[in-house]
Parts: sequence; structure tokens; C-alpha cells
Amino acid sequence: MKRSKDSILQTSLHNFELTAKRLNLDEPIRQKLAEPREKIEININPTLPTGKVVNVKTFVVRHNDALGPAKGGVRMTQDVTLDDITGLAMEMTWKTSLIGVPFGGGKSGIRFDPASSSPGAKEVIIRSFTRGAIRHIGPEIYIPAPDMGTNEADMGHIRDCISYSEGTSITKGCFVTGKPVILGGILGRRQATGKGVVYTILAMCEKLGTDISKMRVAIQGFGNVGSAAAAELAKRQAKVLAIADLSGTIANPDGLDIEALLQHSQATGGVKGFKKATQLDKDSIFETDCDILIPAAAGSQITAENAEKINAGVIAEGANAPTTPQADEILNKRDILVIPDILCNAGGVFVSYLEYTQETQREQMTLDKVEQRLSKRMTQRFNEVYDFAAEKGITMREAAMDTAVSKVVEAVFTRGLLP
Ligand code: NAD
Repeated sequence: MKRSKDSILQTSLHNFELTAKRLNLDEPIRQKLAEPREKIEININPTLPTGKVVNVKTFVVRHNDALGPAKGGVRMTQDVTLDDITGLAMEMTWKTSLIGVPFGGGKSGIRFDPASSSPGAKEVIIRSFTRGAIRHIGPEIYIPAPDMGTNEADMGHIRDCISYSEGTSITKGCFVTGKPVILGGILGRRQATGKGVVYTILAMCEKLGTDISKMRVAIQGFGNVGSAAAAELAKRQAKVLAIADLSGTIANPDGLDIEALLQHSQATGGVKGFKKATQLDKDSIFETDCDILIPAAAGSQITAENAEKINAGVIAEGANAPTTPQADEILNKRDILVIPDILCNAGGVFVSYLEYTQETQREQMTLDKVEQRLSKRMTQRFNEVYDFAAEKGITMREAAMDTAVSKVVEAVFTRGLLP
């Protein structure tokens, strides 16, 4: 994968600094919010089932917890850095604030390629990370969840590892979200981020007076977020014309058969080779002639180099920080509507919040209830951000950031800056 020179941290800081200027933040508060409260590197050396000992760098960052305990996923990729995790933790502070859940922002990272190992080896690494990071995880400190490279099975291992260390069957409160349902997870969490992306698209269609069934969509990423968004779009008769993942890019002008593609991807590990599609060049996804482009893969994918070639009217940011600041400027000049990440992909953390409350109450929420609440919250927030942007004549990213940062600043001052 080509790594852009624009890092996730640079993008997050850039967006924050512009917001701080617009909001006229005083220097001490600007400085406080530009830095994470805590960033930790933990080196782990587990022995894999093969007998091989590996050295793995892991990171935990808590950016800000004025609104509540830090919330954010565990990213497991071969090249994740402490800077990436710092930028992503900052994004989480704004996202939880914007979507209105009582959490702050955090993130953790494990520098390891999950695709290169057996499930047994991955479990060993997840458990080793949990033991190393245990004092930084807790319902009132930092609550992890799935992110790139991790899934609900991994969250189940995190919970088991913590309760095992405590000598108890369950944890005392919610230490991790996105768990398997049988271990206290919530119905619908796996699809929540992707569905949330589609709920913001639905709200946008409503504002623009068009119908989702008329939308032609291209998606980068066919993991948790991309595949759930594709399935929801197909259910609503939108045409998913092209999808890219690390294996390749595929397209079908009549719309891809998402159900068959899911089976193909599960069986082969990627979208490449799907029979009912044309195989394309990997980077061509951004040039697809479509109405909506959904980046749902890594960060810094929409750059100054490809932003001019984008052939979509709307970008719905399923991924975190997929657009570099230079690309953002180009998209704005081209009048491409961007539904910003901290709004567009906040469905996951919203349903994580429902899981958190469910775990304290020990009562399983129904899937209907989860989806109703998710749809209502995403629609409400989309409308608020869209209207605020229109009223002030600013972009949706600016409107979302102004709203989110103002709330965090208010919480910081309400708590007080002493001692
Ligand atoms: P995942 O690991 O399940 O899937 C990632 C997908 O992206 C895979 O299909 C992979 O092949 C593809 N990919 C990665 N790099 C690529 C590249 N350079 N070109 C093309 N395809 C590429 O990850 P996920 O959980 O779906 O997360 C995707 C994005 O959404 C990330 O930015 C993540 O931070 C963000 N996000 C995830 C959640 C969640 O609940 N999982 C919540 C909010 C935001």
C-alpha cells in the first residue's frame, strides 16, 4: 500500500488548528487540546503457537476525557504508528462529542499484520497486548472496540483476558465494546458503522430532494465498514458500481451483486477475482463515475494527487481521516459535498455506547431498538451539521468540528483548569 506523506496526525492537527482559529480559542486551551493527555508505548514479546517469539510495538493514547472515559478502537496493521494512534484518538474526542455520547477520545494500536498470521497467533498477540495495557483499560478510563484489523472475536478475547486476570467470570462493568453477543455484545454492532454511513447518505438525499435508489456508489474498503455500507445500500436499491480493497478493484456498471461478493470475499480473502465484475487497476476506484464515493479503508487516501480526478458529487467518509488537508481544499473548490468522518462514521461508537449502557443494566437490547436509535441519532446529527453549515456558509467538516470542539471546550472549563 502506498503510504501518503500526509499523516493521519497531520490531518487531525490541521483540522483542529483551523477550528481553534475559527472559535478564537485561547492559547492554553488550544495547546491542551492539540496534545493528547496521555500516550503510551508498550512493547510485548509473546510466544506464538509455533514457538516463535515476536516483538510487537503497541500503543494506547487517551486524547481527552473531559466528556467521559476515552473511547476508541484497536487498530492492528503492519505499519501503524504512535502518531497515527495520536491523530485517531483526537478524532475520537471530536466524534464522541459530536454524536453526543458521554465519552472522550482514545485509540490503541498493535503493529502487526493480522493477515500474515493464524487466528491462534492473533489471539496470543491480542491477549498479550491486553495484559500489557490492562492498567490503561477500564469502564472509567479507556474502553477499546474494533478498528482496522480487529473484530468482535478479538474483543471477546480482551474481555476474557481481563476477567481472567481479575479471577472473575465477567468484568466489573464494560471494559470493551464490539464483543460477540454471547459475551455481552450488542446486536447490530458489527454493521453499525457501515449502516450509520448509509443513514447519513439517506439524510443527505432527503436534503437534496433525491432518492437513495437513484444513487450510484463506489467504495474503497470491503472490511467491516465498507461491506456493511455496501449491503445496506444494495438493500435500498442503490447501485454499488465499484469496490476496491487491498486485493484489487472490481466494477460492474449494472451494480455489483453484494451478497455474492460477500461470499466470494469471505472465501478468498478479498474482492479480486469476483466473476460477475470487471477487474480494474487498484487506484482507479477514485476515478469511478458515480454520485457517492465512500472511502472506507485506511487514512490519507484522498490526496492532492487524486482529488482532481474524483468523479463523484458527494464523499461520505466511512474511514477515519481519509482526506488530506490539500485534498480537502480541492474538493471544496470543486463543490464536492463531503460528509466528514467524525459525523459519517460515528454510528459504531454510538452503538458502542448502547452496549456500554446495556452491560451495566444487564439487559439485552433488541436489534430493532438498536437500529431505531442509530438511525434517529445519525439523521438528527446530519441535519444539525448540514443546517449549521448552510446557515454559516461553511463546509460540513467545519460545522462538525466547530460543534464538537466547542462542546469539549465547555466541558473542560466546566470541570475547571485547576489545580
Ligand atoms: P477492516 O480491517 O475491517 O477493513 C479494511 C478494508 O480496507 C479491507 O477491505 C482492506 O482490504 C481495505 N484496505 C486497506 N487499505 C487499503 C488500500 N490502501 N486500498 C484499498 N483498500 C484498502 O477495517 P474497518 O473496521 O472496516 O475500518 C475501515 C475504516 O473505517 C478505518 O479507517 C477505520 O478507522 C474506520 N472506522 C471503523 C469503525 C469500525 O467500527 N470498525 C468505526 C469508525 C471508523
